Amino acid sequence: MSTIKVKDKVFEPYLTAAEIDKAIHRLGASLCEDYQDKRPLFIAILNGSFMFAADLFKNLPIEAEISFIKLASYKGTKSTGQVVTAIGLDIDIHNRHVVIIEDIVDTGKTLNAFLPQLRHQHPASLELVALLNKPEATEYTIPIKYLGFSIPDKFVVGYGLDYDGLGRNLADIYRLKEEQ
Ligand code: 5GP
Repeated sequence: MSTIKVKDKVFEPYLTAAEIDKAIHRLGASLCEDYQDKRPLFIAILNGSFMFAADLFKNLPIEAEISFIKLASYKGTKSTGQVVTAIGLDIDIHNRHVVIIEDIVDTGKTLNAFLPQLRHQHPASLELVALLNKPEATEYTIPIKYLGFSIPDKFVVGYGLDYDGLGRNLADIYRLKEEQ
């Protein structure tokens, strides 16, 4: 694989579709084991996780539901900090086993604001599956029970992740090339 250009930046190959597929098989197997007979509700966070969510869900041959939401994020007051509103969360999660599907956890800011809102609705359990995590970028520690890859703090595109709206359709994941 060679470098590619997305909009005005050059990206180099990082994770191949085959490596992603392997990680998804592993995650699917763990989730099946843990959620068999629990009829889990997966909540995928759009837009970035759409491809990951689709592939992961195909690897879950158990009774399970999936729903898609968008998070609108804005800066609240000093006391409220980051405010996040969920758009499209129309399923009652009370007493349900909920698993959030996220593409990448970077600083953790978004989920740090969103997860307490879900906990407030008293799900039976609440866990997170993320394809990528950047431990070096962590500002808010979010426990990720099911993780695909731990990656360095470099901007990535592809497999659902975008750079300014572009690059989501790449089957592999690329990372920003240094010194441009
Ligand atoms: P956090 O709130 O954890 O800082 O940010 C999470 C969101 O930021 C992700 O869901 C994703 O949309 C975006 N994000 C963080 N790092 C990257 C990255 O390297 N590439 C892309 N395309 N999006 C990222």
